Amino acid sequence: MTYYSKSDAITKHEYIPIIDAHIHVRTLKRALNQNDVLAESGLRGMCVQCLPRLSDEFLTSNIIGMILKLMQYGETYVFGGIHRPVGIEPESQDYLGMVEFLYKMGVDGIKMYDAKPSVRKQLNMALDSPQFEPMYSYLEENDIPVMNHVGDPANFWDGDNAPEIAKQNGWTYDSSYVHPEKYFEEVTNVFMRHPRLKMILAHFFFLSVNMPRLKAFLEKHRNAFIDITPGTEMYIDFSNNPDDWKAFFIEFQDRIIFGTDNGFFGETPYEINAIRTFLETDRTFNAWDMKINGIALPETALRKIYYDNFKSIVKEPRLPDFRLLKEEYETVMKIAEQSALKDKLLEDLRYISEVLVHMGVM
Ligand SMILES: [Zn+2]
Repeated sequence: MTYYSKSDAITKHEYIPIIDAHIHVRTLKRALNQNDVLAESGLRGMCVQCLPRLSDEFLTSNIIGMILKLMQYGETYVFGGIHRPVGIEPESQDYLGMVEFLYKMGVDGIKMYDAKPSVRKQLNMALDSPQFEPMYSYLEENDIPVMNHVGDPANFWDGDNAPEIAKQNGWTYDSSYVHPEKYFEEVTNVFMRHPRLKMILAHFFFLSVNMPRLKAFLEKHRNAFIDITPGTEMYIDFSNNPDDWKAFFIEFQDRIIFGTDNGFFGETPYEINAIRTFLETDRTFNAWDMKINGIALPETALRKIYYDNFKSIVKEPRLPDFRLLKEEYETVMKIAEQSALKDKLLEDLRYISEVLVHMGVM
């Protein structure tokens, strides 16, 4: 594979500060690799998107995010995630209480993925359900941003023709899953009710297949942002029509945020470099086993996408509250004891507790 390395991608713009606003952590041991990625790629900072209810593999992510903050490598932000209901029906959960807890613990925003089709099928809570209303009002009033994964790429609904990544992860959907159209409607309702709520729709809101619709959406909802975390299918859409997409990126340069999903599959600078090559150069290059055409954005737009837009919706990185962090540890320990992944989780939690003791948290 011919791939443009970091030095190729950034020679012209190496001094631009960059925050990777969309990374994930699995275990503390692996999460520490993220600091190496930061050092190697020259990024200013990162934002951990916590997924404790996607699967127990991510159960400890709120705690690990707080530990990365305490280690103070670069600017570390955390968008906390609420836990999967245990023994309580989804509609009886105290979403407001859980989000207030996370914010007081020191998160900088909230990660939602209740409309990831697999999660939606299990929890069956629409994004515009009345049960979420007090939470949205609290987030809106306190100016706390949300990163929301809504839907999935359109071709995940294509059965046998769905891409490999979807098949391998159990992300192929038949008619028993909520249709993407319904998700669009729900998000629209949330913005109509909470116009001041700042929400980043991950992966271009999966609308790189429909530029006119995405444009109309962004024009209508002024506090909606989109991130450019792959969805590699987005980069096929961009590459098929680089001139129009370049114009789109310039028109919406205040609304687009840099992200990679780093740590979901592994901790490497690969996505950072590939996306930077796409944004900063007009080269045709190979990434993700696909041919990508770069769009060579002007530096003014790059600065916003890499840093300013994210900084405009978060406050300075917030500091963890030790008492609440300890409480989160105890909550996670209880869930871990019941989990099918108990052994792996307890091993992670043992290491976490050593580090928390060392840091004076417990
Ligand atoms: Zn993600």
